[in-house]
Amino acid sequence: MNALRVVSIPLRTRFRGITVREAALVEGPAGWGEWSPFLEYSPRVAEPWLRCAEEAAAGSWPAPVRDRVPVNVTVPAVGPERAYAIVLAGGCRTAKVKVAEPGQTTADDEARLEAVRDALDAGGPGGRIRVDANGGWSVDEAVAAIGRLDRAAVGLEYAEQPVATVEELALVRRRVDVPIAADESIRRAEDPYRVRELEAADIAVLKVQPLGGVRACLEIAERIGLPVVVSSALETSVGIAAGVALAAALPELPYACGLATVQLLTADVAVEPLLPVDGALPVVRPLVDAARLDALAAAPARAAHWEARLAAVRALGKDLGP
Ligand SMILES: [Mg+2]
Repeated sequence: MNALRVVSIPLRTRFRGITVREAALVEGPAGWGEWSPFLEYSPRVAEPWLRCAEEAAAGSWPAPVRDRVPVNVTVPAVGPERAYAIVLAGGCRTAKVKVAEPGQTTADDEARLEAVRDALDAGGPGGRIRVDANGGWSVDEAVAAIGRLDRAAVGLEYAEQPVATVEELALVRRRVDVPIAADESIRRAEDPYRVRELEAADIAVLKVQPLGGVRACLEIAERIGLPVVVSSALETSVGIAAGVALAAALPELPYACGLATVQLLTADVAVEPLLPVDGALPVVRPLVDAARLDALAAAPARAAHWEARLAAVRALGKDLGP
């Protein structure tokens, strides 16, 4: 692999506790790859993320079976007026709504969902709403809240990670009619099999970086026998393209994917950023803009930090031995 190009891009709104996204990009014979494990991740956690970047830069992705990937608009834990505006501006027929935000009540979530339903209905019938609690509820809270939110939304497509652990997911799933999706419960390659074993979810949310790349995810999807929603890890268009490659290669894609997240960044590295058109992303590999790479370059100390992270992950590989 060539040298890392580290970029630092402010987010439009605080997300997952960060306001600036750092990503390391690398160019290989097959194109650009993105390595952007979050800063707190250890070398061992960051290692599969690197395999995803290496696959993109040097390897080949499986052949697509579709040329566009439906995506959802994401609605943060905002008030109803703002939620309505976000859905209308997003142009997507599926909305993922954040719920169970600390300091807010289920009534706040209900008001947000009613506004989202109104905004979707303004674009015609058939809009879908899913909620994402990011593990914020207890089992009993989840059971109570999902029932209320299902009514407020006039039908939920699914509830994503209502509770923190896979064991709790299994308990909630047995007590509600709304399908359950596992997201945070799937972070390592072995996790999807645990979700299946416990019958803890109806849907698996897969992210290409933490699970080691497009081909690794496709294999997981084939083996777990659950419908898959491909989601992002807040990447630039380079990283999103890997998620799009997975979504495009899946034999079945019954749900919109969580890949419309480039709009959460204030800038991007691509000539044409991977943003949704009519609720879908095109299945393309975006061209990287050299001038934007320069303009978004992280400070030298940050670039050095990423080189050190890379060295730490590589050293890990040596420790594993032949
Ligand atoms: Mg999620």
